[in-house]
Amino acid sequence: MRKILLLCLLAALGPASLAAPVTPERMLQAETNGDHWLSHGRTWSEQRFSPLDQIKDGNAAELGLAWYFETNTKLGLETTPLVIDGVLYFTGAWSTAWALDAKTGELLWKHDPEVPREASIKACCGVVNRGMAAWGNRLFLGTIDGRLIALDRDTGEQLWSQQTTDPNEPYSITGAPRAAKGLVFIGNGGSEFGTRGYVSAYDAETGLLVWRFHTIPGNPADGFENEAMAMAAETWNGEWWKYGGGGTVWDSIVYDAELDQLYIGVGNGAPHNRRIRSPGGGDNLFLTSIVALDPDSGEYLWHYQQVPGEAWDYTATQQMILAEIPWEGQPRKVILQAPKAGFVYVVDRENGELLSAEPFTTVTWASHYDMETGRPVEVEGQDYDGEPAWVYPSPIGGHNWHPMAWSPDTGLLYIPELDMGMLFDEILPVDYKHLKRHFNTGYDISSDAQSSQRFTQAMLKHLPKAHLLAWDPVKQAPAWKLPHPNIHNGGVLATAGNLVFQGTSDGRFIAVRADDGEVLWTFPTQTSTMAGPVTYRVDGEQYVAVAVGRGGALNMAMGKGFPVGNPNNRIMAFKLGGNATLPPMPVVEVPPPPPRMEATDEELQRGRELFNRYCSRCHGADAVGDGSIPDMRRLDPVWHENFEAILLEGLMEKAGMPRFDDVLDKQDVRNIHAWIIERAHEDQALREESGWLASIRQKATDTIARATAWLIRVTTE
Ligand code: CA
Repeated sequence: MRKILLLCLLAALGPASLAAPVTPERMLQAETNGDHWLSHGRTWSEQRFSPLDQIKDGNAAELGLAWYFETNTKLGLETTPLVIDGVLYFTGAWSTAWALDAKTGELLWKHDPEVPREASIKACCGVVNRGMAAWGNRLFLGTIDGRLIALDRDTGEQLWSQQTTDPNEPYSITGAPRAAKGLVFIGNGGSEFGTRGYVSAYDAETGLLVWRFHTIPGNPADGFENEAMAMAAETWNGEWWKYGGGGTVWDSIVYDAELDQLYIGVGNGAPHNRRIRSPGGGDNLFLTSIVALDPDSGEYLWHYQQVPGEAWDYTATQQMILAEIPWEGQPRKVILQAPKAGFVYVVDRENGELLSAEPFTTVTWASHYDMETGRPVEVEGQDYDGEPAWVYPSPIGGHNWHPMAWSPDTGLLYIPELDMGMLFDEILPVDYKHLKRHFNTGYDISSDAQSSQRFTQAMLKHLPKAHLLAWDPVKQAPAWKLPHPNIHNGGVLATAGNLVFQGTSDGRFIAVRADDGEVLWTFPTQTSTMAGPVTYRVDGEQYVAVAVGRGGALNMAMGKGFPVGNPNNRIMAFKLGGNATLPPMPVVEVPPPPPRMEATDEELQRGRELFNRYCSRCHGADAVGDGSIPDMRRLDPVWHENFEAILLEGLMEKAGMPRFDDVLDKQDVRNIHAWIIERAHEDQALREESGWLASIRQKATDTIARATAWLIRVTTE
């Protein structure tokens, strides 16, 4: 009897039942209590700054691996974990959720929402997921096929599920929901395929829809949902609704507890080419805008549009940080944002007034902002009207979803910056065809050999660079810049220990002194990191954890020719004196390429064009993969034997490889296959060479692959 009582007592004290609900009080306390990571950006203000200082600049060199957890997949990992009461919750490929003991990495539960694999075609940039929201004793998660799911935090069991999108439309969810006031807020993605953006609020308890706010107007003939849409429609021309129009809210949604406002970051136009989307011009509200809403009703309060008449895939969806900074001698409540367009925007969050907009990377599309009107001054010719234009930043942006951080201690914003341009070559409106399952951008660089060559030359002249950049929003200037060897590095965490943490694409996790950018500690992670790190405390010990793994838009499209055999993606946790070690890198045998197929030069060239148009978005430009999904140059024989059935009959659709019989015929598939085998032979020859010459040749191949990468992102029929 005593034994049973003891067991009951122990069960009651287990980590799961210690879970205390996430309440408004707890969310507010978290601003000064660093033990937990309660929301996507740690707290409602989303600063990704932790007051924990046990790990600090003076002892960062003593950091070591505490534990790691294998996800058993190489598919992209973009998650920011939540850490609540000693349990670490994270999401991964196919919208799967896991709960781990935050002290040991031991698995507590796993929830697989069983996303139909054919939904992969709706994911522009991999079947990734960036995280969950917590409210009460529940977790909330969006799925690639557009559902919002509530889970029991203790068990991972599903409590309710709502389809937030029309399953017949190319919407997907990769962003983290946010929770406040008993509501769960969720957006979606899909602009490139031609969708109309919106945000929804669901009741955390019942799962019922409470409100929905569209970010751009629909067809006026159907009537407008509200006055904000009628106002926005004045800024559009033509028949934009036929192309969707865009404006998806695919990442940042922030609740401001001080002002009781909800800010949504609105995405780019669809198609990107504004002369197709809205002939006759117009600002096209609320594309590329921060929109403030009433969190209870979803009613429009104010907006600030960063890029009127957006034409380059620029989005205001990147992370918004709520802060108070000294401005002209007065404390000012502001939103800090460093989105794709390449400017750091400082916006008054009481009314949307623009206080500062200065470039933090190379920018050519606009010379500056007119501070009287808050509007950018565009540079002539950069909108690729009639003439191709080389434009900075590229559609990947000067900074994308990879979280940045703000330290109130140093007064600096830490941005994973990307200094990269792209050639835009217009598809004339008369030649434009809209394809629902494929990218619709309205520009092209593969239309002829001349434009391809022009692109490659421009790319070689302007090789992309990347930095960890510390920006002072008060001085409106950089404080320091840490150059990285590769582009597309991970998100950032800042702490009260005068530290900034970041994972890099060349396979390191680093701790940097926050005030001067000095690298204090480096850990080899065996593969790239994209995600943002978190920190928390269990039993008096501070940990720093990060999701390590490749994938995502830029890695997949511009596969860097990473070493063969990258490990599965992992969560890694570090602490002072940690002494765990990673297993050795897996050894992978590359199968020999099959014999070349009979094909003319024209057929091979056509195969390359088609591959770069339809396949390279995932399998990498010129078939240089990033290792997160199969590299086409290194396929096992069985895939070659079934090549046509995979592409035209959907043989591997249930595994996430879409069918392409809507755009390809048998001859097209044959051309692609012949060209892939050609690439496999080139790859083998390159790998058999060794020494410095081979390494230079390998680098050159990567560069050409990078240069050609944009074929993918930017082509349409
Ligand atoms: Ca986009």
